Parts: sequence; structure tokens; C-alpha cells
Amino acid sequence: MSDETKGPAASSEPAAGHGAGELTAETGRCLCGAVSFTAAQVDPGMHACHCRICRRWTGGPSISANAAGVAFAGSAYLSVYESSAWGERGFCRKCGSSLFFRLQGSDRYILNHGSFDNPDHLKVVGEIYIDEKPSSYDLRGEHERLTGDEFLASLGITPE
Ligand SMILES: [Zn+2]
Ligand SMILES: [Zn+2]
Repeated sequence: MSDETKGPAASSEPAAGHGAGELTAETGRCLCGAVSFTAAQVDPGMHACHCRICRRWTGGPSISANAAGVAFAGSAYLSVYESSAWGERGFCRKCGSSLFFRLQGSDRYILNHGSFDNPDHLKVVGEIYIDEKPSSYDLRGEHERLTGDEFLASLGITPE
């Protein structure tokens, strides 16, 4: 999810029906373990975002899952960076692990794949901001690949 996306219409309803399976309950944590979470409803159909912001933030493409019912432990170590006027990104300030993106004030989370304890049943079902992907790497598989504008259009947002 790029912070260049405009407005709260980008709200990420955990949408069943990506074809990857039912919503599941998951647990996860940062590298050092100071911050951990439980997520009651995780969409197993993940998207990989190649936008410049996600790549700088995570160190690579951001592979992440929409989630609701998220609760954190160790919140004394959970810092939130306002990455745009309406988006924010959570990370552990002890070890630096990037954990989630969310719209400011939203209880919907986009949780980073790398933080899940048991991620094997979570599958990439699409890539977004393919037009910002560097030529350095490619993800295999037959799935949807949307440019940033195409992704925004899929959310009903007209790019500026
Ligand atoms: Zn992104
Ligand atoms: Zn940590």
C-alpha cells in the first residue's frame, strides 16, 4: 500500500474471496520479541507492494496481509511513524522491525508477512505498484500485477 494513495477510501477491509482461503487467526512478533501481536481475522491472500516507500521501509518489496481484530503486547516498544498525512507505519523501536501499515486512526491493519509466526498458508495473490519495481528482482507465479494507477482504480480512487 503506497502512501501516495489518496484518502480513506483506501481503507483495507479484510476481504475474503481472494481465493486463498478463509480468514484465519494469526500471531506474530518483531525480531527481538519486545512487540508481539494477535490478529483475529487475517486475509490469507496477500499482496506484494513494490512502491518506493514500502521498499525503503522494509528493505524489499512489502508482502503483507489485511487484518482486523489486532492486539499488541509490548506497546511500550511500538512506535508509529506518520509516513503521510493519513497513513502510518508501526515498528519496534528496540530492534527496528517494520510491522504494519494502517490509515491513521483505523483499526484495520496491513501486517507485514515477515512478522507472522506461521506464514506458510498465507499466499501472494497479487502484486501492486509493479511500475515502481526495480529490475533487480521478480516474484514468480501467475497472479495479478497492477500498476499504481491500476491499483488505485481498483479501489475506486482516481489518481491525481
Ligand atoms: Zn507500497
Ligand atoms: Zn523488536
